Amino acid sequence: MAVDVGTYAAKQRVVSDAAEEVLGQWLAANPGATLAEVTEEVIAIAGQYGSAAAEMAVEFYADWREAALEIVDWEPEPATVRPDKYITKMVGNFYDPSDQFLSGLLDAVNVAVQQVGRDTIVRNAKRDPAKARWARVPIGKTCAWCLMLASRGAAYLTKQSAGGASNVYHPSCDCQPVPVWPGKGGKYKAPYNEEKLTDIYQQALVEAGGSGASGKAVARAIRDMFPDLITDGHAVPSILTDVAKGWPSYLEPVRAGVWRHILIRHLSGGSARPPHFEGTAYEFARAIQEVVRNPTMDVQDSREGWERVWNLVKGVNGQEIQVGTTILSDGRRVVSSAFRPTPERSMLDL
Ligand SMILES: [Zn+2]
Repeated sequence: MAVDVGTYAAKQRVVSDAAEEVLGQWLAANPGATLAEVTEEVIAIAGQYGSAAAEMAVEFYADWREAALEIVDWEPEPATVRPDKYITKMVGNFYDPSDQFLSGLLDAVNVAVQQVGRDTIVRNAKRDPAKARWARVPIGKTCAWCLMLASRGAAYLTKQSAGGASNVYHPSCDCQPVPVWPGKGGKYKAPYNEEKLTDIYQQALVEAGGSGASGKAVARAIRDMFPDLITDGHAVPSILTDVAKGWPSYLEPVRAGVWRHILIRHLSGGSARPPHFEGTAYEFARAIQEVVRNPTMDVQDSREGWERVWNLVKGVNGQEIQVGTTILSDGRRVVSSAFRPTPERSMLDL
């Protein structure tokens, strides 16, 4: 039977959700339980479900390894459940008898159970005599932070195993560390589209200021540049809204509806009359910022009834771009569109 990371992640999720469910029921049945009582219960639940998560991880590791190496010459072992000391501290941080819902504690137990499975994979990758490394595999659509960690791992996989922050998982995250081994030529091949993830990471890294940029800054750039690939993408790239990112203060931040309109109508393949902007959505955003920061022309629209509209015009990389702006009655100036003009409305001789 083929081994599949997505199926494995879903099984781990069932176990950790069950632990959360059982604890929730116990807490509901024992209102006002003391910290010591709750701690004892959480230790029992985390122990039972954590062991199940570890056993599943052992089985996954062995099957995944056999499928990759086509030999069975070594047995993985389960990681130990989080020590009582760790659980005691966790409960102390999250248990508040006056809080009815205790969602923080329930989330923490869920993550702690999943972590035993994850620890099992990482620990065995280190023990494995067949030179295993591990990569953090995103499951389904993830947030920018998870995608950043996974893509950074992809970029570094041939040099080292993903470590540090790559081993931190937030509640409701299904990302899994997965062992990988060198194939032909000694190259490690990640169990996902490594080139695509590496490309995302490199582009976002450059946008965030290059090597030395923090993970946070890279994740922020991913939200700007690849909003459709993640669950928490920016509706409008920050270079069109944020003065700290170069957006000029004489203009209001671009609104989400306007940005959507620009992309649907005027980006390559858009529904407006050609020419369209040739490039990615983010390149379009960059070009728009360049136009409004330093326009070649700022001209009032000549059409009747359009007196409030002023077009900012500039050629950017051989494409004439007009940014339509409207002066509101209170004097604020807003972007209403951005497009490449048809030949009859062109103002520049590029
Ligand atoms: Zn995740």
